[in-house]
Amino acid sequence: MRDLTNEILELIRRTSSDLPPDVEKRLRAAVEKEAPGSAARGAFETIIKNVELSRKNSSPICQDTGTPIFYVKTPEGWSTLKLKQQIRTALAEATRKSYMRPNAVDAVYDKNSGNNLGGDDFPYIHFDEVEGDKLTVELMLKGGGCENVGAQYSLPDNRLGAGRDLAGVRKVVLDAVQKAQGQGCAPGILGVSIGGDRGTGYVKSKEVLLDKIGTRNPDPKLAELEERLTGEANQLGIGPMGFGGKTTVIDTKITGLSRLPASYFVTISYMCWAYRRRKMTVKGNEVLYD
Ligand code: SF4
Repeated sequence: MRDLTNEILELIRRTSSDLPPDVEKRLRAAVEKEAPGSAARGAFETIIKNVELSRKNSSPICQDTGTPIFYVKTPEGWSTLKLKQQIRTALAEATRKSYMRPNAVDAVYDKNSGNNLGGDDFPYIHFDEVEGDKLTVELMLKGGGCENVGAQYSLPDNRLGAGRDLAGVRKVVLDAVQKAQGQGCAPGILGVSIGGDRGTGYVKSKEVLLDKIGTRNPDPKLAELEERLTGEANQLGIGPMGFGGKTTVIDTKITGLSRLPASYFVTISYMCWAYRRRKMTVKGNEVLYD
């Protein structure tokens, strides 16, 4: 089996320092919507300058390089044990090269490991065996500030008047955005899962964030809700970093899961503007980065 440590190191470098083009395009469009001289426009201009400098210098887009979450899809015959070791080696090296800040702090002993390696949970790696001959490794770096404003609701929520239907989903998602205000480094991207248990709700609400900006759920009902939520969140006037302004959310992505008859969870993962996610595809000797 091929050793992919160096290729994974490059994936980490790109993810940490090179914001994906679809995200950058939306941020650039958002600048133009704000009035010249406004705090919102200033915030967007600073964000864009930061994005350009990070790309040029291979330096992290944000001082918080986030929780590294890997999604690996393997064709038959690859050892997940070996891949896990290669990912861990690459991450420690990326930390040594300052592509990543040491972020793994033992929650019980309050000690930073210094190399981004914690127990089995850090980095978190999702493995999935797939058909075909392509191996893919996707990396998401999920900032702590935006993770703090993620939320889970158990419907019905009488306080918000949210029942067990899509109208109720709409109410709680907007409540989460309203509560987040500028914390979590708006403008954000909302990953929403409807259903599941509490654990899968959070897993799936993050996974849906791997889709490109502007891609809609194939279910027309959910696609319509995605568009509506983005539009309505932007009417809240929270704006970039909470300075006020026209763009609070740049996209919403929803996934519908199964649920137990007794439960109806709506889970929101809030991703900050530093929406760092990249993909590497390996086929034969070829390695492509997206
Ligand atoms: S929420 Fe995102 S942009 Fe804000 S500090 Fe954390 S990683 Fe950086």
